[in-house]
Amino acid sequence: MDDWEQFISNRKYYITEKMIMKENNVQEQLKEAGIDILKCMQCGMCSGSCPSGRHTSLNVRRLIRHAIRSQDVLEDEELWMCTTCYNCQERCPRCIDIVDAILKIRSIAAHKGIILPEHKQVIKLLLEYGHAVPIDEANMKKREELGLERFPETVHKDIEALNEVKKLLNVCKLADIIDQ
Ligand code: SF4
Ligand code: SF4
Repeated sequence: MDDWEQFISNRKYYITEKMIMKENNVQEQLKEAGIDILKCMQCGMCSGSCPSGRHTSLNVRRLIRHAIRSQDVLEDEELWMCTTCYNCQERCPRCIDIVDAILKIRSIAAHKGIILPEHKQVIKLLLEYGHAVPIDEANMKKREELGLERFPETVHKDIEALNEVKKLLNVCKLADIIDQ
């Protein structure tokens, strides 16, 4: 093992011992889900291949470091800028499940009520219509002009299916997230 490999190998343990606070709930939950972000060596391959990062302030390398260091990552706005395209995860030389980590952290944040008003609105629409973007009058009219039925073959048209979706969302306690 050369010096660099030795440094990388030690770095994981360095981060583990020096930076992780026991009460870092995020870390513990990631660990339980089998996601090991401590392997990150901050190479930047992820941020270099992130299309969202070209248009927003998202720096996924920094986000992973934030998740390693602090529970405050739950309030990091960049958490919500990832489009889950998986570019970063495919390229990570440490084979870290980056996107799965982001999704897990989002889920923890959401269950703690740390969620944007826009997301709450999407949840409300899902709970009511079974669609994040329900069809509106203008689109129904366009469909009719094209000789189509007013409603597409989705839960919009099938009330029974919509009720099943609502039951599933109920089991997931989705409404609890917006009630917080
Ligand atoms: S590509 Fe992987 S190892 Fe490199 S900074 Fe990103 S998460 Fe860390
Ligand atoms: S999955 Fe998210 S963080 Fe990764 S490259 Fe795509 S947008 Fe960037």
